[in-house]
Amino acid sequence: MEYFVYNYDLIAAGVYSSGPEKTIKTEPVKKCRFCKKSESETTFNDKAHAIPECFGNHQLVLADECDSCNKFFSQNLEVHLDKYTRPFRVMGQIQGKRGVPNYQSNNQKSKIKHGEIPTFVSPATENFFTIDKENKIVTVNYHREPYIPLGVYKALVKIALSTIEDKNELTAFNETIAWLMCPDQTKSVIKPALVIETFIPGPRPTCGVAVSLFRRKPSCSGEPYAIFMIAFGNIAMQLIVPSIVDGTTLTTKCIAFPTPFEVCGWPFGQPRTHIKDLSGTEKRKEDYPVEYSFDEIEAVPPDSIDPDHI
Ligand SMILES: [Zn+2]
Repeated sequence: MEYFVYNYDLIAAGVYSSGPEKTIKTEPVKKCRFCKKSESETTFNDKAHAIPECFGNHQLVLADECDSCNKFFSQNLEVHLDKYTRPFRVMGQIQGKRGVPNYQSNNQKSKIKHGEIPTFVSPATENFFTIDKENKIVTVNYHREPYIPLGVYKALVKIALSTIEDKNELTAFNETIAWLMCPDQTKSVIKPALVIETFIPGPRPTCGVAVSLFRRKPSCSGEPYAIFMIAFGNIAMQLIVPSIVDGTTLTTKCIAFPTPFEVCGWPFGQPRTHIKDLSGTEKRKEDYPVEYSFDEIEAVPPDSIDPDHI
């Protein structure tokens, strides 16, 4: 924490869920912060959320994003972020545009549906669940649909840049914006592209989605220029936001910012942090096992499960 106080200024921060809308607008006339086009050259009809709605943000809107850039980011970057974060959002029961996302396995035999209570249904032969009766733990073997790791990283950088309200802070990221908009998904300006990912156990530790963007103080040097943090449900992610100010040989040193759950103590267990490498430019699919603890387990006759309900 001292490291951040000493080296960084907080240039954007907030917690968003549902409630009154807040619009970020840095130009007196409509002008896209990504493609730099104005209303005479492009359109601004769609509502662009600064943080995707699937993360539970129904409040923070970015006026400086044109329809064409919104569509490009959605199709090229957010599609990977959606796949990567789906297990997080299912497990944290994050309310997206159309409620909490449902889930089904690759072969569609195992399903999770969020009605009044979450219902997990899977044939016993599928091994979607592993039940440890002695320790009262159910492990659910989520999988991720194939995603491009660097696409996930770029989508997170795009969110970071969307939360900036001071126009002057954006100039350090002009090259970063050009990279985000480059259709060639194999190009990278940060190697390796690492995310510090923290899993916080317990019932939805973060209400809504919390974001913080730190920019290095002018008096400091040697540290990454900008660091972004985003937390929702049981997950907190931290990453370097590339800037030309850092030069081309970027330091990958990134100090983990402590979550409040580590600082104040947390009754549901210690948060677990690991470094995720999102440098890959090829599609990757993987399993994501999650442990749930339970108080009681009860067998029910199979015919008592209403197939229409699942
Ligand atoms: Zn644009």
